[in-house]
Amino acid sequence: MPIGRDDVLEWIKAVAKVLNENRDYLTSLDAAIGDADHGANMDRGFTAVMTKMPEISDKDIGTVFKTVGMTLLSTVGGAGGPLYGTFFIQAGIKTSGKMELTLEDWQVALEAALAGVVMRGKAEPGDKTMVDALTPAVAALKKAAAESQPVSAALKSSAEAARQGMEATTPLVARKGRASYLGERSAGHQDPGATSSFLILKAAADTWANRS
Ligand code: ADP
Ligand code: MG
Repeated sequence: MPIGRDDVLEWIKAVAKVLNENRDYLTSLDAAIGDADHGANMDRGFTAVMTKMPEISDKDIGTVFKTVGMTLLSTVGGAGGPLYGTFFIQAGIKTSGKMELTLEDWQVALEAALAGVVMRGKAEPGDKTMVDALTPAVAALKKAAAESQPVSAALKSSAEAARQGMEATTPLVARKGRASYLGERSAGHQDPGATSSFLILKAAADTWANRS
């Protein structure tokens, strides 16, 4: 069964909720190796996204994603805002005009979203950024789609790969963003952006596994 437009809206709402619930957690991770604003940044961005819900709830999935991306770009500062803004805008370009997504459509959208983040931020896997959670998530999704796995299993394995990628950032020395200013001292802390990326993909797996 494909992922419908209303499922996508439910996911965006779930992301807003989970980022709000994890606001202090994300901020504490950013306090250790950054400037203690990642939780506040993401919560502010998705609170603004929620105010756009009434005007996008009857639109196609591409418009929904593009609106989310533009809203994040205009309300979230720092590194995270432009990177997540690009993430959703690129996903929106790939889903333009669509009212539902097959697993392959979602894989293509997520792959483009990651490519946008990489193009904008120039981070490679191992640099201790959100790219470390997103890259294995995309790879797991691709594998699941190639094996024609059911949507819910594919999303679960994608979120699980993101979790492993997130956890693997802990021993790394940051080479991009504010955390890189700390050099070796950034090791021993989980990356905040990899953590928000995991939460976002986990929300997709949880929301879309239970769709009616
Ligand atoms: P800022 O660092 O400007 O305060 P945030 O705290 O909102 O912005 O976001 C920090 C997160 O952004 C980091 O944990 C990291 O995952 C991600 N990040 C920073 N720079 C880059 C980059 N060049 N490419 C990808 N992700 C990055
Ligand atoms: Mg920060």
